[in-house]
Amino acid sequence: MVIELRSDTFTLPTKEMLEAVNPNYLGDDIYGEDSYVLELERKAAEIFDKEASILFPSGTMANLTAIMAHSPRGSKVIVGNESDIYIYEAGGASVCGGIIYEPINTQEDGRLLVQDIERAIPLNKEDPQFSLPSLICIENPHNRMGGRILPLSYLKEMSEYARSKELPIHMDGARIFNASQALNVEPRVISEHVDSLQFCLSKGLSAPIGSMLVGNKDFILKARRIRKMLGGGMRQAGIIARPGIVALNNMVSRLKKDHENAEKFGIGLSKIPGIECNVEKIETNIVFFRVIDERYSLIEFIKLAKYNNLNIDELGYGRIRAVTHSGIDSEDIEQALTIIKKIMK
Ligand SMILES: *Cc1c(COP(=O)(O)O)cnc(C)c1O
Repeated sequence: MVIELRSDTFTLPTKEMLEAVNPNYLGDDIYGEDSYVLELERKAAEIFDKEASILFPSGTMANLTAIMAHSPRGSKVIVGNESDIYIYEAGGASVCGGIIYEPINTQEDGRLLVQDIERAIPLNKEDPQFSLPSLICIENPHNRMGGRILPLSYLKEMSEYARSKELPIHMDGARIFNASQALNVEPRVISEHVDSLQFCLSKGLSAPIGSMLVGNKDFILKARRIRKMLGGGMRQAGIIARPGIVALNNMVSRLKKDHENAEKFGIGLSKIPGIECNVEKIETNIVFFRVIDERYSLIEFIKLAKYNNLNIDELGYGRIRAVTHSGIDSEDIEQALTIIKKIMK
């Protein structure tokens, strides 16, 4: 058996998700007639205490749509230089929306500092040389910063700042339930600080496909047109919405186990000579570590692990990423540690 720690996107749908679809409830969602989609969208809006919600085939399309719905052509969107939106989404806002990315330095814990954003905002808005900012995007938890959670006090500060500048905030909350579970708060305690939020059904929640975007009614109405334009309008989308509903019902509270397993893995790693892992930085289901053994390059180490049935991946700057999820139990973690010990012998 392969231990799959490359990503929580490798989670497979549960039997219940696959068996839950009753064809009688399916309909054409472009006409707004798929009962499962309507139910999922109602549920997502309620969980995050927003007026409305819309289903997307992917988080990338949900983020792109959100940016396009908030931002006119020629405006600039403020993003983290380590954000998924900036690094992994193929420049969609520029390509499809004529929008400029303004990358801001990312702190080790995933925050973008207000003072750094301030520098990206032109002092004289009347000066026709400048493109004007239209949106601030923040990521929570932050993937490339190791699954770190944005503190609630920071969200409050950021939302007050954004309001003072009349800028909306979009949160890329691909793994937002990992944050709410780790903080022991209702998701709405996080989303109250932002205007729109994207979350993935397809990661730790283990649904096969789908992401949700939540926000106010007018914003979601705009998003519906943009989604159709981008080719994300789906017909009997209940096929993916129903597993999404099951995911929201059954797969949220168990995320805590993933966090426990991530911590257990980190603690084990930190005790292996030649491995460097800062356990204090593990806040959710993502573990970063380094190999500081001259026998192995990063790529050789990852290959050796794969040869021993352990899948992990590199995530830039010499780091290796391991992600825990519903397909990984405590014994898998022990097994993974045994494999790494063996390699490091
Ligand atoms: C996975 C992810 C996305 C994109 O989701 P896809 O469904 O893979 O397009 C966006 N942001 C973050 C932080 C992610 O981890």
